[in-house]
Amino acid sequence: MRSTNTRSNNKNIDNRKKMKKCSECNGKMEKKLGKTPEGVSYTFFKCLKCGEEILFMNQLHNVAEKYREMKRFKVKLNKWGLSLGLRIPKELVYRYKLNDKKEVLITEEDNKMVITIV
Ligand SMILES: [Zn+2]
Repeated sequence: MRSTNTRSNNKNIDNRKKMKKCSECNGKMEKKLGKTPEGVSYTFFKCLKCGEEILFMNQLHNVAEKYREMKRFKVKLNKWGLSLGLRIPKELVYRYKLNDKKEVLITEEDNKMVITIV
């Protein structure tokens, strides 16, 4: 289930347009993209003057949702001869319309394995 934003859409657009001010020094805040050590990307605001970093509630909810998803899709590998088998959770099978006739491509990217449906 997706987290829902309690604020109205109009207000959100206004918020995005309006430059946020730093609560420490009243400097201009810039929206930045960060990444947790686990590779979860998130947005936050950083003060251009004093470097204060602020994470708003909706940004925090987004990160929490990504972590929940990561935990849900944490799977154990199974031995299959000298190889290992990876069980794809049913939620992902439905979401990506997978079946046992489909082929996937495993590529390496920044020390990660990426599965692409071909
Ligand atoms: Zn500041």
